[in-house]
Amino acid sequence: MRPVSENARRKLAATAARKSGVEALLVTHLPDVRWLCGFTGSNAALILPTSAQRMPVLVTDGRYSAQARLETSGVKVIIAPKSAVIAACEWAAEAKIRRCGFDDGNTTVATLKQMQAAVPAKLRRGIFHPVGALVSSLRWVKDAPEIRKMRAAAALGCRLFENIFDALVPGATEAEVALALEYEAKKAGASEMSFPSIVASGPRSAMPHGRASSARLPRRGFVTLDFGVVLDGYCSDMTRTVHMGPASSQERHVYEAVLEAQEAGVTAIRAGVTGDEVDEAARSVLRREKLDKWFTHSTGHGVGLEIHEGPRIAAKQTQKLEAGMIVTIEPGVYIPGKFGVRIEDMVLVTTKGAEILTPSTKAWIEL
Ligand code: ZN
Ligand code: ZN
Repeated sequence: MRPVSENARRKLAATAARKSGVEALLVTHLPDVRWLCGFTGSNAALILPTSAQRMPVLVTDGRYSAQARLETSGVKVIIAPKSAVIAACEWAAEAKIRRCGFDDGNTTVATLKQMQAAVPAKLRRGIFHPVGALVSSLRWVKDAPEIRKMRAAAALGCRLFENIFDALVPGATEAEVALALEYEAKKAGASEMSFPSIVASGPRSAMPHGRASSARLPRRGFVTLDFGVVLDGYCSDMTRTVHMGPASSQERHVYEAVLEAQEAGVTAIRAGVTGDEVDEAARSVLRREKLDKWFTHSTGHGVGLEIHEGPRIAAKQTQKLEAGMIVTIEPGVYIPGKFGVRIEDMVLVTTKGAEILTPSTKAWIEL
């Protein structure tokens, strides 16, 4: 398991950055900034020197001066009247940093131009070096405080599902169901939903991303509920599919196949296996049932400060899972014009296997 303090996270990132041959990292992706120093404001850039002798610098604006000092420690806070990233680049140039890494996956061409314009002309060509998602990929493995927070977020998601059945009545709109989820989430302390809730009923359940609409729940048919909360900064994500009224044998068969695929995916997880192997474990069940052509997305994704982060659980993903990663396993079958089924859990990867963080029942539910 990884060390726990933000200072320890900064050491990890500094070590990785040093290996990339830079003197400092410019961190602008807000979840990365938060992970490294605790700051939760909406305008921030962090300069993280790779030398332990130099203090990290957090740049933000005047709205956040009190908050930045309250939320961080071991970081020098600079308040700039302009864009944090530009001020951070100016600071780096003045501090004689000559090779500064940045996340090219989270930097627009326009921002890179502004970064270059912020430093003296003679530095412009050589100072900024793309290092990819260096910090974000460190975040894939959760440390103990993060696992604790994610357990709490996942548990709240389960509680919401287990209390939603009163709202699942024929004639209620999907939007009303989503609102009921959100109302309970906020009452329980969630700051927001981790993404717009998916409540997809009847033929709409065949849309993997069917956001809750004004459609009304049918007397007979599936309802797919895919939702999550943000609790203490961390996201949860789970899906359950229930059936209104009596089901056809095809509906039952598809549900059982998706459930078997989902459980096969969970069973395949342990430290050392690849995303590709886990994806194949789930997909092969649906292939056996001749349903795989309707499983049109990947099997899962990492989740944490962001609702979608690495690692991907998908075909051709050859990177090995590590203990402490938290990923989703969410196969689905979507038969256009008819119905769809998806079942999703959040799973903590361990050396021995997987621990399901969303243990709400996946047994067939007929309302
Ligand atoms: Zn989901
Ligand atoms: Zn998901």
